Amino acid sequence: MKLNKKIDLSDFEFVSYNSCTFCNSSDVVKQDTIHKSPEVNYFFCNHCKVSYTDKQLSVKDTEKLYSHYYDEHVFKTGINPSVLGKHIFRFISSKVTVNSSVRILDYGGGDGSVAKYVAEELRKRKKCSYIIDVYDIYEIENKLDAVNYITSESILANYQYDIIIASAVIEHLNKPLDTLKMLFTSLKSNGYFYARTPFNLPLKNMCEKLHLKKKVDMQFPWHLFDMGRIFWNHIPVLFQSYHIKISVIKSQPSLIEIPFKNKKKRYIATVLLKFPGYIFKNWNNVGGWEVFIKKI
Ligand SMILES: [Zn+2]
Repeated sequence: MKLNKKIDLSDFEFVSYNSCTFCNSSDVVKQDTIHKSPEVNYFFCNHCKVSYTDKQLSVKDTEKLYSHYYDEHVFKTGINPSVLGKHIFRFISSKVTVNSSVRILDYGGGDGSVAKYVAEELRKRKKCSYIIDVYDIYEIENKLDAVNYITSESILANYQYDIIIASAVIEHLNKPLDTLKMLFTSLKSNGYFYARTPFNLPLKNMCEKLHLKKKVDMQFPWHLFDMGRIFWNHIPVLFQSYHIKISVIKSQPSLIEIPFKNKKKRYIATVLLKFPGYIFKNWNNVGGWEVFIKKI
């Protein structure tokens, strides 16, 4: 998802939470204040290791936000779906056998162009046949060929997936735990799950400590969670308690999507920030995180 529009928070009604909005634990500590009026804080949950906002829009106003302030270009994931598609394919290709049949779910994937790219590469290079299902909260106007646009109910009811993609979507959900449970349940044993989420709080703190003019936008109320290294690396332990066995295969700063040609300065700054994160385990000033998870 890509969201551009600035909004006035005083137009909206919020609900406050005293416990973790991911796992409901009350073992939480305040991390940062990101908005003064209304006051919005990020809390860290010691149980599930997520960072979450202590306010969310009411259900009615969540609908208002997404129907009135949503950019019409969000139906394509990211700047160029083929960049993310290629990245996911590179990881998946060594795990898929030639001539196999794969079923892919692109959850919150807009028109499904990332999943379509992955599937087409698997067809061309691995002779795989494929089925693509896409779930998105929006009715997609320009539908792609060979893509099924499905409802969330039919995910659990009907299918078992080889690959599930949830790129830049989990942080938008009011209750992402239920969705993750559903997605991991829908994944076949030995299937792969890819997620990309914002991981901005450490970067925001660093910029403030250095008194940099450029502020990090936490994109509230669009983004309700900050999910990085600590959260994703802990997720197999968390899901053990729900009897779901998963293993994190890759956990790293998210790929750089900015095209070098058009935005050279931004591209170089992003590379410099993210690069140490691939090497040093305590470097978290990366702005975004990604994981490849395997169902056991
Ligand atoms: Zn929690």
